[in-house]
Amino acid sequence: MPPVRGRYAPSPTGWLHVGNARTALVAWLSVRHRQGRFVWRLEDLDPPRRLPGAAEAAERDLRWLGLDWDEGPSMGGPYAPYVQSERGAYYEAALERLAEQGRLFPCRRSRRDLQALASAPHGREGLPPYPKAWRPRRLPPDWYDAFRTGTAPAEAALRFRVDDTPVTFHDRVQGRITEAVDTAVGDFVLKRRDGLYAYQLAVVVDDLHMGITEVVRGADLLASTARQIQLIEALGGTPPAYAHVPLVLNEHGEKLSKRDEGLTLAALRAAGVRPERLVGYLAWSLGLIPSPEPLSAADLIPCFSWDRVSRSPWVLPPDLAERLR
Ligand code: GLU
Repeated sequence: MPPVRGRYAPSPTGWLHVGNARTALVAWLSVRHRQGRFVWRLEDLDPPRRLPGAAEAAERDLRWLGLDWDEGPSMGGPYAPYVQSERGAYYEAALERLAEQGRLFPCRRSRRDLQALASAPHGREGLPPYPKAWRPRRLPPDWYDAFRTGTAPAEAALRFRVDDTPVTFHDRVQGRITEAVDTAVGDFVLKRRDGLYAYQLAVVVDDLHMGITEVVRGADLLASTARQIQLIEALGGTPPAYAHVPLVLNEHGEKLSKRDEGLTLAALRAAGVRPERLVGYLAWSLGLIPSPEPLSAADLIPCFSWDRVSRSPWVLPPDLAERLR
């Protein structure tokens, strides 16, 4: 068996909240109870959405919670850099490989063109699946070289030509999942026309390069997994194990957002909450311990088991900070 390697991969677009902490705790416990290595990777690919200070704050918040990691932006490691904005060469190499295999094509259609297909059933992200009829019928053999070196008209996104065979995978929390990527989303973007690499490409390339054996993340990313598996296989890799942790919801049953600022780790800490109280509460909400008693993250390592992790979303009480004080 290869050594267990898990990761936490925050985007520095906001302050970590209780839901992020809960997912990070599970990802960390899953690795630590099998003496694996935990990797921190900063997913800062979208410059306009970067929030100054968020990357440092995320590390500080999770250390406060009692988590640690073996490789990452602040200590380096064998797969450095651990910051996506510095990893462009890896993404370029992957695009080149996909182009050689005929799995990549340039696309000049806009989001608006897709939206205009109003009669088509809407799939993921509110958009209809990319129509197969929009694939170029034939591309010149050297199209990618011309595209990359700028001798062909650019202003195009690069899309991945998906496979028609449905993807089936087992998720440690959600069970067996099957998705037909071609009818759910169709050919998806790997590099945007403005030159930014898409999340789907970067996450797959980095998980493969960093030898990640398990991906533990929020259930909101379950819908990306089948796409990522197709991409991993096209790049000659083996998909990791997956676990999508149910989301934490606010008292109105909504996904936590910027409006729930009282539920960030920084706000709870400022309100006088001790990390052990929060860790115990999160472990209880996950089904790992029978009552919300104060515990350190390390205390939970021996009792961790995927079989216990709850499958339903967790609704937070409005007075969480008072309850935990
Ligand atoms: N960077 C993503 C996020 O913060 C997580 C990506 C992943 O775990 O695959 O939502």
